[in-house]
Amino acid sequence: MTETLARAPHAADDTRITICDPRSGELVGTLTPADADTIDDACERARSAFGSWSRTAPAARGEALAAAASVLEDHADELATLTQRETGKPFDDARGGVLAGVGTLRQYAELGPLHQGSRLAGDPSAVDYSIPEPRGVVAVITPWNDPVAIACGLIGAAVVTGNAVVHKPSERCPHVGERLGELLSPAFPPDVLRTLTGGGETGAALVSRPQVAMIAHVGSTATGERIARAAALTGAYVIRENGGNDPLIVDAGVDPTWAAQQAALGSFANSGQICTSVERIYVHDDVADAFVDALCAEAREWTSNGALGPLVDERMRDEVHRQLTESVNLGARVLVGGTIPEGPGSAYPATVVVDCTAVMPVFSEETFGPIAAVQRVTSFDDAIAAASDDRYGLAATVLTPSLEHASRSAAELPVGTVKVNAVFGGAPGGSAEPRGASGSGFGFGPKLLDEMTRLKVVHMGTAEVAS
Ligand code: NAD
Repeated sequence: MTETLARAPHAADDTRITICDPRSGELVGTLTPADADTIDDACERARSAFGSWSRTAPAARGEALAAAASVLEDHADELATLTQRETGKPFDDARGGVLAGVGTLRQYAELGPLHQGSRLAGDPSAVDYSIPEPRGVVAVITPWNDPVAIACGLIGAAVVTGNAVVHKPSERCPHVGERLGELLSPAFPPDVLRTLTGGGETGAALVSRPQVAMIAHVGSTATGERIARAAALTGAYVIRENGGNDPLIVDAGVDPTWAAQQAALGSFANSGQICTSVERIYVHDDVADAFVDALCAEAREWTSNGALGPLVDERMRDEVHRQLTESVNLGARVLVGGTIPEGPGSAYPATVVVDCTAVMPVFSEETFGPIAAVQRVTSFDDAIAAASDDRYGLAATVLTPSLEHASRSAAELPVGTVKVNAVFGGAPGGSAEPRGASGSGFGFGPKLLDEMTRLKVVHMGTAEVAS
């Protein structure tokens, strides 16, 4: 028999975490967060496991990771179902996220053993080289919006380079996090990978532990800043992949229907709950009318054809709607959507809002909902200036037929990733550093292996031998 909670489908406190299905409000389960002793125990065990794991041959570590990837692949449907139940992500998207996790584990299984230092050119009679060494215990702290893929990237890079990991998954999908740990950890020696259940308090307790040498956080900027402050006291090394407020520039001369499809994909995919979702749209006057008409048609289609999952919970929906309402009070106009539907769960319609300005919350804050917020501009220069004037610096997209404008975008936009003529996509092998409030360090790609290690330089001279 299923139970339905009327409000607050996700709730976490010190004593229990309750998860409900955001599509229906039905109870998924209740869990107990890790207490202080459990956190201490996990950190201590991970520190003990680190010694011999760090001395294991990199090829053997890669093989263990590849084996873990295969186990995860065998359970892709199970984890996708759990992800859908806890976060509302449509099943195919959730399965795609699990398979992306499998892919990233396999990539690091291959890249890890190739990660190397270099021979240095010193005195010919000496040996000089640099070598990357694992850091120790890495606290991996992850969000709910792509829970398996994000966790696999950080765990894979940390483990293959010889670190031990204590993973704290999001309290919004704790069953996914626990199951992921159960599936992956048997591939490694005991305690190389441990999982802690809990919310922000558990995460805060974990990052303050002296055994933790490094913290890899993917999540909101507010949390990332708290973690950076805590790490300043322990000396732990921190990388942070945090929030975004990505602009999309729609330049003169583009096909407005194609541009609207791109804008809708960027704004509505995963119901707008992607760190690189399109958050602010600057459209040139020449194409603005046709673009906005086509975007409204896209929004109606996304809401009616079932492509849009619910928001993760009612807390998120309330926040999205607050931002929209305050923006409307400041002069924005809603053309499509913008109302909370009747019924259980936390659905929110694809929404188009125009006449937006920099002071409105839909433009100044990360919205994390299916809202396409639009401002008209009269020139490309104005678009670049407005897009650049923001405290976040994760990514940006420019749709333009002009090679000059494409080049200027790449050179001038103060973000980690610039995309021209595609809101999503990119070649494998990329690594990027977020700017400003979006965080610091490489959170993915080959350079994440550098983050997970410290470089040591060695000089070996020749001893004078006693005669
Ligand atoms: P969040 O920061 O609230 O939570 C993420 C994790 O941090 C959770 O496991 C949470 O329990 C933990 N946490 C919370 N407070 C903590 C504290 N004081 N100390 C230690 N850990 C703590 O983020 P969220 O709401 O789960 O995720 C959404 C956010 O993540 C959005 O801002 C999104 O942009 C961002 N995100 C960024 C990227 C990226 O690559 N830049 C990718 C995905 C998501």
